[in-house]
Amino acid sequence: MSHGVFSDLVGQDEAVETLRRAAGAAARVVAGEQVGSGSMTHAWIFTGPPGAGRSLAARAFAAALECERDGAGCGECHGCRTVLGKTHADVRFVVPEGLSIGVGEMRALVLRAATAPSGGRWQVVVIEDADRLTEAAGNALLKAIEEPPPRTVFLLCTPSTHPDDISVTIRSRCRVVALRQPPADVVAAALVERDGMAADTAFWAAAAAQGDITRARLLAADPEARARREAVLAVPKRLTGVGACFDVAAALVQSAKAEAAASVVDFDAAERSALEQALGAGGTGRGAAGAMRGAAGQIKDLEKRQKSRATRAQRDALDRALVDLAGFYRDVLVTSLRAPVPVVHGDVAPQSEAAARKWTAESTLRRLEAVLACRESINQNVKPEIAVEAMMLGLWKG
Ligand SMILES: [Zn+2]
Repeated sequence: MSHGVFSDLVGQDEAVETLRRAAGAAARVVAGEQVGSGSMTHAWIFTGPPGAGRSLAARAFAAALECERDGAGCGECHGCRTVLGKTHADVRFVVPEGLSIGVGEMRALVLRAATAPSGGRWQVVVIEDADRLTEAAGNALLKAIEEPPPRTVFLLCTPSTHPDDISVTIRSRCRVVALRQPPADVVAAALVERDGMAADTAFWAAAAAQGDITRARLLAADPEARARREAVLAVPKRLTGVGACFDVAAALVQSAKAEAAASVVDFDAAERSALEQALGAGGTGRGAAGAMRGAAGQIKDLEKRQKSRATRAQRDALDRALVDLAGFYRDVLVTSLRAPVPVVHGDVAPQSEAAARKWTAESTLRRLEAVLACRESINQNVKPEIAVEAMMLGLWKG
């Protein structure tokens, strides 16, 4: 198995082949050679279900574009390593800090992307969650995609190419790389082979993570992540009445908040102290009062950004919990239908089997739908507490 930048895209051979070929063509462009029209594209869309590796694929392709060894994506040269570490000067990652990517942010980005790449290769803009572009931001991006500067590449990640996720006009200007959810056994094999993980841990983690290799690694390594998952999987048996529904809902939301807070705390503090240092450097002498007023404004802006990032992290944490929970009800359903597919949460199979004996397939399906409806509501900005309470009541009633 290759150890280049594409090696984490397990079970995605077709997509990897497309990207390798494009990166090779891009390297020939950089070298000043002629390439056939259509062999290099300036705008790409990476689609696939959560955990299929959209962001991984986009980042790997960006690295291959900046790879100093003829676009091979060797994973070892300075270009590859700085892209993978998100510190390459010509590669920008846009992760919406709030719930959408605004037009101001997009315009600034498009302007910077039009400048000549400092490393002499490509300016790359990776837009994770391109489905969160506002309409105005989408239009600003469309203009750049329609007439791309010669050395600029846009990489957009969205769940699908449905018009709800990405506008039809942007879609029509992009080449689409469709990623699939890799089968758990393929992911497990990669974890054993590449990470040297014990086989039983690898198979358990890959199944529990539903093929998401990043989450599988986290589950295998982090006891807190495992404890959170266990708490989520204990939800169904705790729903014994209306009061319990509200208690369990509150606990689930609280746990997502705590997880999110822990994930941003170090970053927030570092960001704040960097800003304070930058502001403090010119903080004495004439004009200091004016500078201080400006400083207060900048700190306020930073606090606003951090708050919005915390909200986003909370929703992401909650969504991971809901995916685990949906996996449980899916397991109940495949068990009661005797479907010949492996269960997601093998370690709680006794519970899903007991539930399959107790509930009709129809009521299990209604429960699964309640979880999916909750994810959808949160995605539509319904307050998490309200969406989760409604879901718990649905799960209890069946
Ligand atoms: Zn390289």
